[in-house]
Amino acid sequence: MSEVYQKLEKIVEGKHISKDLYVRHAYSRNVDLVLQGVPDIVIRPKDAQEVSEIMKIANEENIPVTPRGGGDCEFGGSKPIGNGGIVLDTKRMNKVINLDQDNLIVTVEAGISWGKLNDFLCNFGLYTGCMGPGSGMTAAVGGGISHHSVGGGGCAKYGACTNQLVSLEVVLPTGDIINTGSQANKYSKYPFNRFGNGPDLAGLFCGDNGIFGVKTQVSLQVFPKPPYAAYKTFQLPRKEREVSAKIMTEIRQKGIEVYDLMFLMDLIVRLGCQEGMFPFWENLKKKRGVIFYTIEANSEVELDEKVKQLDEIMVNNKTEELGQEIQDGNIAKWHYAEQGHWQFYHNLWGIYPSMQPLTAECFSPIGLYPNVLNDIDQWDMEHNEDMQKIFNITKIRPIAGSGPVLLIDGNNVEITCGFTSFWNYYNGEVHDIIEETNLMLWKSLLERVTKHGCQWYMMGDYMSRLMVDIGAYSEEYYNLMKSIKQVLDPKMILSRGKFNFWGEK
Ligand SMILES: Cc1cc2nc3c(=O)[nH]c(=O)nc-3n(C[C@H](O)[C@H](O)[C@H](O)COP(=O)(O)OP(=O)(O)OC[C@H]3O[C@@H](n4cnc5c(N)ncnc54)[C@H](O)[C@@H]3O)c2cc1C
Repeated sequence: MSEVYQKLEKIVEGKHISKDLYVRHAYSRNVDLVLQGVPDIVIRPKDAQEVSEIMKIANEENIPVTPRGGGDCEFGGSKPIGNGGIVLDTKRMNKVINLDQDNLIVTVEAGISWGKLNDFLCNFGLYTGCMGPGSGMTAAVGGGISHHSVGGGGCAKYGACTNQLVSLEVVLPTGDIINTGSQANKYSKYPFNRFGNGPDLAGLFCGDNGIFGVKTQVSLQVFPKPPYAAYKTFQLPRKEREVSAKIMTEIRQKGIEVYDLMFLMDLIVRLGCQEGMFPFWENLKKKRGVIFYTIEANSEVELDEKVKQLDEIMVNNKTEELGQEIQDGNIAKWHYAEQGHWQFYHNLWGIYPSMQPLTAECFSPIGLYPNVLNDIDQWDMEHNEDMQKIFNITKIRPIAGSGPVLLIDGNNVEITCGFTSFWNYYNGEVHDIIEETNLMLWKSLLERVTKHGCQWYMMGDYMSRLMVDIGAYSEEYYNLMKSIKQVLDPKMILSRGKFNFWGEK
């Protein structure tokens, strides 16, 4: 390994590579605490050329490489599976390369965060539409495209962040560098369109979870931020899951364009108030679920008309409006006007600092989500005995349920469900039984949600392998993915182990 290290050191001028134990360990985890392996080397290249040289050496030496953006994947996608290999950190590639104000397209290096990019764009009255994921202060644009991320605001209007993708610069697993969309024509001077010049090859890399190539540059459409916005929050009546789904369906069927529409279940409101996360809801008499909307408009008349239509739906569904200001309970205002969309999930996940999320974050049609959430309650009851094993040690039971349910493009929602639990190191002692139980519970919940027909977009290592394990892909579909992988990456260098192409568990 030391010879390889020396070769790699030359590529990144020595400074941007490490084999120190503490650095390798820092790169061996994501948000979940499952430790699957520690890399030998962490490297931080500055551009596509350096990435290409790294990939060529990795091929020569048959060393696996895991690309990493912000490391916020909830299913462990940006850490190695098994000990060894290289973690390729893209966060040094974090510059805005060009803002084409005539054509409203921005080109960035893939490691830039959504927060930094939008901070830059707001100087021009622009934004990315879908603001990336809720982790956007740290998560990278390349990570978002690799996950097909939604959630950081704007996804009811703009859809997932891949919707605004125009063109990609990608280093293929063998080290070749390609450009997609309009840039597939080498005579094109600047990126302007994703489709054409043959099939949509950018699509191959959207949601690929880092198996088909390393994204080094991303061109995205950007949008002028409309001058008018309205945001309102409502408490839901009983049967909040069904009523919130009905409201979402009615809004979609009436064709009213909303920027954000989010349902927060009663459990989150209750626990959040209890832990001081929602001071503005402390005085609510009943800690019921809430729903909020945000709309944008180019004129006051347009705004008023949309508000009228939406409020009629809210009233007809017996919701109760909370006040206009944040302190009155209007979380929608905080979410939009104070960029709460990038803070909310961090607060939510840190609600019990010693507990960790084991998520089952997925897409579903609006009509399906009440059933999925009801079934998670049922699953929780069925697994009480296992939950008790953890309770017996920690005196706090794992908490299952759903965080926000967000309207996204079409009639789909993103469900942020799963459970939070303690990990094996508790109160100064290692308890293997906690880890074993968590993993068994996580697998069983993910399998259950998959069998509702939900769709996974952030799959990391854990979910990508589980889909294969439980036979959720058709043979033909799985074989096609595998064939593409074999052509692009004959030595299976990039993200080795994901999707279980090689039969590892
Ligand atoms: C607090 C919190 C809130 C979150 N909220 C949301 C949310 O609202 N919506 C949502 O969709 N997700 C959410 N997530 C999950 C996750 O943060 C996002 O999906 C995010 O887009 C991941 O970006 P990242 O840069 O951190 O990716 P990483 O975790 O670094 O990587 C994600 C995957 O992409 C691959 N990858 C990363 N960069 C590249 C690249 N340049 N080229 C090729 N492959 C690459 C990695 O190998 C990995 O498989 C949240 C996570 C946290 C911790």
